[in-house]
Amino acid sequence: MPIIVMKFGGSCLINKNSFNNILNITSIYKNVKKVYVASALSGVTDLLLKTAISLENDKETDKSIALIEKRHIDIIEQIFIEESEHYFKVKDWIDNKLSELEDTFADIKEFGLEPYYKDYILSFGEIISTYILNQYLLSNEIDSVFIPTNKLIITNDEFNNAYPFYDLTNARTKRFLIPLLENPKKDIIICLTGFIGRNKIGYITTLGRGGSDYTATIIARSLYEVGNDKNIKVILWKNVDGLLAINPKYVLHSSLIKNLDYDEAKHIANFGAKILHPKCLEAIEKHKIPLEIRNFDKPLEKNFTEISELSDKQYIKGVSAAEYVTIVTVISGSMVDVPGVLAKIFKVMSKNRISVSLVAQSSSEISTSFIIKEDDCDKAINALENANFFSEFFYIKWEHVAVINITGLKILETKTKAEIFNALDKKNITVKAISQSHDELNLSLVIDRDQLVDAINIIHDDLYDEFEDSN
Ligand code: ASP
Ligand code: MG
Repeated sequence: MPIIVMKFGGSCLINKNSFNNILNITSIYKNVKKVYVASALSGVTDLLLKTAISLENDKETDKSIALIEKRHIDIIEQIFIEESEHYFKVKDWIDNKLSELEDTFADIKEFGLEPYYKDYILSFGEIISTYILNQYLLSNEIDSVFIPTNKLIITNDEFNNAYPFYDLTNARTKRFLIPLLENPKKDIIICLTGFIGRNKIGYITTLGRGGSDYTATIIARSLYEVGNDKNIKVILWKNVDGLLAINPKYVLHSSLIKNLDYDEAKHIANFGAKILHPKCLEAIEKHKIPLEIRNFDKPLEKNFTEISELSDKQYIKGVSAAEYVTIVTVISGSMVDVPGVLAKIFKVMSKNRISVSLVAQSSSEISTSFIIKEDDCDKAINALENANFFSEFFYIKWEHVAVINITGLKILETKTKAEIFNALDKKNITVKAISQSHDELNLSLVIDRDQLVDAINIIHDDLYDEFEDSN
């Protein structure tokens, strides 16, 4: 029987209707093995974090804890029958968790917000919401088990942004999940907490904000690697139809991307489109596990986004933008053909923990440009100007700009590029720098920030036939 790992985000856990809809989805996906991954209730992770970083005033802390309690109690009052056994069981369980949370806040106040405390605090959101979901299924006579993923996903020590060790995670998956999934006599929904794991010594870690998508894909990959059933799919239920070719903030009626491959999706997820956590793709690509992004409110909708190895190659998949960025250019007349100049530039960036995105160098080697976040600009320029090598031989300039990324295999065609430049020319938009790596299906163009919206619109309008129509 196929296995589907489904992720329900905060926007799927809002009220009685949304929990009802999860039952609806459960019945739609009748003949498959199901693993459900849940996020915290919407806004709870932020609330936990906010409380943990401002514990000075005890009254305020109590207020926040009361609010966190209220958010969860409101839900269980809606979804469980009043005064029922289930209601009381869940209420007591939440009370216990909240007193653990309160104790931890007290510890943090005493010892400081060490990174592991932060992750521990944040884990409460997913632990409580997922337990509620599990109990809700049980109360509707659907067999279900609750497993917090700190029991399954073993990660490195990078708190707040941990990375899974797949071998160790696989061993846990084999031990705890496979017997449940591969028992032919049992039809049970496994409810897993999104977002969290643990390091080798047992401290809870988190996978980065929005990390529940990532959890679903890590589990899918692990099931593939240790289980007998290789027919595995991931569905992320969202409050949108899927990935759009262009953010509606720039173009009102942008088309839905119906299918794209892992490489295309990586580009799209990295730039803007906060719909998909970029790390997900790394987890599922290896075994070509398909992933669907579907609208939670329209589970039977036939238009959605599917990421798999198949992709309609004839379309431009997406146009996205990085708005608040700076282009830094390092120029020298004398330093051509000198090995190591690039290494020196990037060493300065790395030492200052500045992340570099686009890079472009003329083959004459006279100038090298690269893109950084605008917030890092002062730090970057200072560091370069104060580095001996650069102050002697180089001239450094910078400008705040925007970057447009156009993604899709289609971009490899010269004709497509010609059309893009023609379109931009119509609006007198100058491209200040360009980058496309070898055979890469993404073209990045650096332009004036003021011209960003115009540029995206003219590309969309002029190349309209190259985009997939969602209707
Ligand atoms: N609750 C976590 C967050 O808000 C993880 C998630 O929602 O995916 O970042
Ligand atoms: Mg969230």
